[in-house]
Amino acid sequence: MQFYLDGYRPGDPEYRPAAPGRDESSKGAAALPDEVDVLIVGTGPAGVVLAAQLAEFPGITTRVVERRGGPLEIGQADGVACRTVEMFNAFGLAEKLVREGYWVNEATFWGPDGTRNGSTAGITRTGRVQDVADGLSEYPHVIVNQARMQEYLLEKMRTSPSRLVPEYGVEATGVEVLDDGGDYPVKVTLQREGGDTAVVRAKYVVGCDGARSAVRKSLGIELRGDARNHAWGVMDVLAVTDFPDIRLKSVVQSPAGGNLLIIPREGGYLVRFYVDLGDLDPADRDARKRFTFDSIVAAAQKALHPYTLEVKSTAWWSVYEVGQRIADRFDDVLDAERGTRTPRVFIAGDACHTHSAKAGQGMNVSMQDGFNLGWKLAAVLEGRSPESLLDTYAEERRVIAQELIDFDLRFSTMMAAHPTDPAHPELGGVDPAEKQRMFTEAGRYTAGFATEYTPGLLTRSAEHQAVATGFPVGQRFYSAPVIRLADAKPLGLGHVAQADGRWRIYAFAGAGDPTSPDSGIAQLAAFLGESEDSPVRRFTPDGADLDAVFDVRAVLQQDHRELEVEALPAFLRPVKGPFGLKDYEKVFTPDLKGGRDIFDERGIDRERGAIVVVRPDQYVAAVLPLDAHAELADFFAAFMQPAAALV
Ligand code: FAD
Repeated sequence: MQFYLDGYRPGDPEYRPAAPGRDESSKGAAALPDEVDVLIVGTGPAGVVLAAQLAEFPGITTRVVERRGGPLEIGQADGVACRTVEMFNAFGLAEKLVREGYWVNEATFWGPDGTRNGSTAGITRTGRVQDVADGLSEYPHVIVNQARMQEYLLEKMRTSPSRLVPEYGVEATGVEVLDDGGDYPVKVTLQREGGDTAVVRAKYVVGCDGARSAVRKSLGIELRGDARNHAWGVMDVLAVTDFPDIRLKSVVQSPAGGNLLIIPREGGYLVRFYVDLGDLDPADRDARKRFTFDSIVAAAQKALHPYTLEVKSTAWWSVYEVGQRIADRFDDVLDAERGTRTPRVFIAGDACHTHSAKAGQGMNVSMQDGFNLGWKLAAVLEGRSPESLLDTYAEERRVIAQELIDFDLRFSTMMAAHPTDPAHPELGGVDPAEKQRMFTEAGRYTAGFATEYTPGLLTRSAEHQAVATGFPVGQRFYSAPVIRLADAKPLGLGHVAQADGRWRIYAFAGAGDPTSPDSGIAQLAAFLGESEDSPVRRFTPDGADLDAVFDVRAVLQQDHRELEVEALPAFLRPVKGPFGLKDYEKVFTPDLKGGRDIFDERGIDRERGAIVVVRPDQYVAAVLPLDAHAELADFFAAFMQPAAALV
């Protein structure tokens, strides 16, 4: 984190100065403006990530409306995949999250106790595995209440230069795209608690309003799929038990009473139980509502037999049906119209995909939807990209949602399956060992690392993958340890990338002396700093800092003590801000003292070097040889345009 570029200020540097017109007096402003650039409907995980991202751009007028009277306080999702922790790091929130959360390091599996002579005699531990395989991420899989996750991001919004806070008690009841709507073509009808209605006009609207999305319905978009009619109870409780794995994630397949998933919660005492309540009669629409809290506890007690469970206090409980459904479209543009008009209304999160909670993906994938869309809206609204960039949201995220639906169907079916009974093979079921194997195999997916964007406008082909094999094109940029040259600080290379909408260009040096003007690094720096074709020169607005749009970082092969900062190209020490200060944080070397050489760990071609281009949402967009200047320029020219000068 860098600060004081504009001058020293006492106090918490994370509480950044408000942009002009966005100071404390605008905080919590009750009146919504008549016209906004972006209106976000809903403050669930999708809405708050999107809002936190847009709050970084105070020149963009963003507003958030939420039907509830205030922030969520309890319940709903709690599983935070490693990938989400990585994203939180970009928002400067990972340390907090990791400190507060329960770490899911191992999982145990329980099945029928065959030694007890009889299929109803109880359960025994059948296996124990590491939850997240080594080498997937530097962050753990954690459990933190969805309400807390949202609160972190709401705080980020509140302390951002935009000082953005949601308008609570305001429900969006209708959204319409007007043909003759001018610059603000989307008309949103809002209803305040108490009955007043209001109309706001927006350039773009994003429906982050959950599974029953009013925005989706206004667009006539259907959620298609299967309700499956299988009920699960969920309860967050403080309980006394003699079940030995109560502080480990445990998958219990009981012969006596269905399936249980036990998720220990943050704080050391709280535990979540997902309890299989069985199939529901599709004709009986009220079946789910008849389950009581006591019936969920009784089902959990039965499944845990012979272990005991005594619930002492209940934080939250709910019953829901498992189903996998996906929206036909993720924006207001029909397939036949694609390319002929700009998408104006988007849906994200549960509004466009719903699935079971067992794989812990609801909150995580919804947040990634918001992260994917946020920087694109900012780029278009700031004039750095044409509106066609916005088509890539639906194009990219619908594929990811379909993969999630397919995965979840397999995963939740496996989790709900009863154990096999050797005496009755005709009854089917899943053997506990098989369940454990499938769970382990799914680990990469559940940790959030299965997303791989395919070649397209924002993702180049993998033709040059060989120069950086450890940064697969289309996948998230996997950080590795480095030493910052100027101050010898060890850190993760990926951790310097903040959620600020900037593109990252990581230049990995090839063989030779990087201080020589003939070196690949110096040649690239000269191209980026001086050539008319340079994307940095073409697409950084006049008057903005040199790294305002592209954050170029160099990683050299030498030990950090062998190099002098001032001997490197000046482009790697950009002069910034009102005082013309040099930014010394652009150059890194391997962490040789720590024994981890990023060139080895990420398969960088030591002879040729490599360029790794990373999107603002942390996905690898391109891998190129260090001298592929023209290809680098062409990549950005396809979706960027010169923005207006800053005044
Ligand atoms: P939501 O989190 O649903 O947020 C939508 C927000 O929009 C809400 O704050 C809502 O009040 C607001 N809103 C809705 N309509 C309007 C409107 N018209 N105008 C203004 N605001 C509106 N996942 C798990 O992994 N484990 C669980 O145990 C689990 N339990 C759940 C229990 C419940 C009762 C629910 C609803 C969901 C549960 N989920 C669970 C799913 C998980 O919470 C979601 O996948 C995730 O929250 C989706 O995020 P989202 O931002 O898309 O939508």
